[in-house]
Amino acid sequence: MEFSEFVEHAAAIEAEPADLETVDLVAALLADAGGDLEAVTRFVQGRVFPAWSERKLDVGPAAVYEALAQAAGPNVTAGDVEDRLADVGEIGAVAASYDLDSQRGLAAFTGDESEDDALSLADVVDELDAVAETEGSGSDKETVRRLFGLFNRCSSEEAKYLARLVLGEMRIGVGEGAVRDGIAAAFGVPAERVERALQVSNDYGLVARTARDAGEAGLDGIHLEIGRPVQAMLAQAGTVTDALDAWEEAAVETKYDGARVQLHYDGEDVQIFSRNMEEVTHALPEVVEFAEAELPVPAILDGEVVAVDADGNPRAFQHVLRRFRRKHDVAKAREDVPVELRAFDCLHAWGDDRLDDPLVDRHDALDALLGHTNAVSDLSVSGDVEEIEAFEAESLDAGHEGIMLKNPRSHYSPGKRGQNWLKRKPDVETLDLVVTGAEWGEGRRAELLGTFLLSARTEDGFETIGKVATGITDEELAELTDVLEPHVRHEEGQTVDIEPAVVFEVGYEEIQQSPTYSSGYALRFPRFVTVREDKTPATADSLERVERLVAND
Ligand code: ATP
Repeated sequence: MEFSEFVEHAAAIEAEPADLETVDLVAALLADAGGDLEAVTRFVQGRVFPAWSERKLDVGPAAVYEALAQAAGPNVTAGDVEDRLADVGEIGAVAASYDLDSQRGLAAFTGDESEDDALSLADVVDELDAVAETEGSGSDKETVRRLFGLFNRCSSEEAKYLARLVLGEMRIGVGEGAVRDGIAAAFGVPAERVERALQVSNDYGLVARTARDAGEAGLDGIHLEIGRPVQAMLAQAGTVTDALDAWEEAAVETKYDGARVQLHYDGEDVQIFSRNMEEVTHALPEVVEFAEAELPVPAILDGEVVAVDADGNPRAFQHVLRRFRRKHDVAKAREDVPVELRAFDCLHAWGDDRLDDPLVDRHDALDALLGHTNAVSDLSVSGDVEEIEAFEAESLDAGHEGIMLKNPRSHYSPGKRGQNWLKRKPDVETLDLVVTGAEWGEGRRAELLGTFLLSARTEDGFETIGKVATGITDEELAELTDVLEPHVRHEEGQTVDIEPAVVFEVGYEEIQQSPTYSSGYALRFPRFVTVREDKTPATADSLERVERLVAND
């Protein structure tokens, strides 16, 4: 395909505001693309290489301005290009504003080797490939020389799309959905099959070519490939109530505060990819060594890399990020901030893709692979609110970020932020409630008050509304014990009755009617936020306010 033909299609697509017609135009372009189909499928989205490819076109704007200026004629400088850009705001329009047509092939007279023939799409691919491979000293000059060679063979209209492509700013209104539907329409295959093949391969070019050459059966033959990362499944914010209402039971997992990784093991070597599918293998040698030693079969795992202290306790995720950024002195970094894997999903193992297995089965597969180590996430399936509460308290106590709630029967949907994975939303509301009782802790916390009984103010006293034990560190417990002990009125076993004096700010997920407490209400998922030292029981929240909140819900 000539580059000019691609540009004609791109211009028509850009001029079309309606989505449906855009899909038809994309389909027409793909059907016309012939041997250039793979590149065209990427170019139309403004991508030069597949998303997962190690090759990147790392061209800065300055090189594009310089190359464009050189192609625009002897009186044009990179500064002029920048000035026009400041006026027009978009590099494509700037490129199109130069009279490149009259300057075309100028290089032929200056001894450059580029020819004055029509520019093909394959030429663009080859040259951009060469630019991506240019590295080291003199590479900027080489990049400008090659880009100039391309611009010099462009009409003004072609330069518009070339400049945008090189800078990754195609902006002709073609999103992933339009390409998916365009492939389906061009080659007569169902859009769901295209979608599926895209999910597992992440390669639009491959999927388009397979749809054209091998139809639906060919698409169904596209599988995960070890070494080719897929997009990570993502989570939405949600509550325990959302989870249990939707699925009755939730797979509850620790939410690790680290960095997402996808680990690929081919039976010999491990490759690790970040959430953006960049390869980060070199930064995490201990994870590589661990997986190479422990994994019994080739596999693709999804998980989190966490930083741990000398006792194996989690450290803040900034430490992990530092490890990712580190290009040199990895050995030193490894000593300073050791990291460990916490795998929470298994996408492929024992030769089979597992994306369509239910979540709990995928987690069982993980256990079978790595259950003998500490690298598998804690997961427990429960429909019981109190059990989930206890799991969350344990996760928080251990220093983790919180919990994830997952649909136990759900499939793995790459790149999707759906309803099947919920990250427990931080409390939407808080109430300032009076502490009217507490319980002594157990074990190493026997000297500390642990669970606090909370009450809302009424006209003539206080009515209980819930207990809070979650969200409090050991240090805070010691301080709270000191603050509350002088107000203890009466003790019976582990239970103490406390005179209203101290006000807690408490977050919660929901207020429910409940016979458990004297107010007739109960907080679901109460979580300690802070002591409101600026408040007294008289200015704490009233039961009337609680009633209003419930009524407005
Ligand atoms: P977002 O994914 O919404 O863009 P983010 O990257 O900051 O934001 P969060 O939204 O806080 O992440 O939560 C989702 C992330 O939590 C996952 O991408 C993953 O990195 C991390 N995570 C930690 N533990 C788990 C787990 N058990 N299951 C799934 N994800 C987990």
